[in-house]
Amino acid sequence: MDLRKFITVVEDYPKPGISFKDITTLMDNGEAYKYATDQIVQYARDKEIDIVVGPEARGFIIGCPVAYSLGLGFAPVRKEGKLPRETVKVEYGLEYGKDVLTIHKDAIKPGQRVLITDDLLATGGTILATIQLVEQLGGIVAGIAFLIELSDLGGREKLENHDILTLMSF
Ligand code: AMP
Repeated sequence: MDLRKFITVVEDYPKPGISFKDITTLMDNGEAYKYATDQIVQYARDKEIDIVVGPEARGFIIGCPVAYSLGLGFAPVRKEGKLPRETVKVEYGLEYGKDVLTIHKDAIKPGQRVLITDDLLATGGTILATIQLVEQLGGIVAGIAFLIELSDLGGREKLENHDILTLMSF
């Protein structure tokens, strides 16, 4: 299935110069959403994954159906102040300023094998921060899966030591 045709490209959103890849037109098509999920499930199957982890909010949309299908749990990575119990955190650079991502301290046990999911790989900043959180807890990043890769932004190079799946590239 050609998944690219289910992505709506919105130019100059959320600000001038950004070519936004809207995945909601993939999500609202049951066949396409299932196909994309199944591709990631297949990729993960032989990796002996213990838990799926994804950053808010679109990492949940990709990761939760994958976790369900594999019979695994899902641990959310969220912005600071959103998780109710003890967390570990990582500060990471944005184009302008900084942001903080957090995960519950007991979400991953040392030695567990983790699949990380997100909708889109751009600069790789979000996923690098997510990797750091997993590793702070002693988890092993066994694979990282995205729907979309923006190939001009250098994200893949930043993740060169990792096993990555992207289902389409723009
Ligand atoms: P980055 O940290 O630069 O890899 O950016 C990753 C996050 O920002 C992804 O989880 C996307 O949800 C969002 N994002 C960045 N660029 C775009 C884009 N052009 N279209 C849609 N979402 C984007």
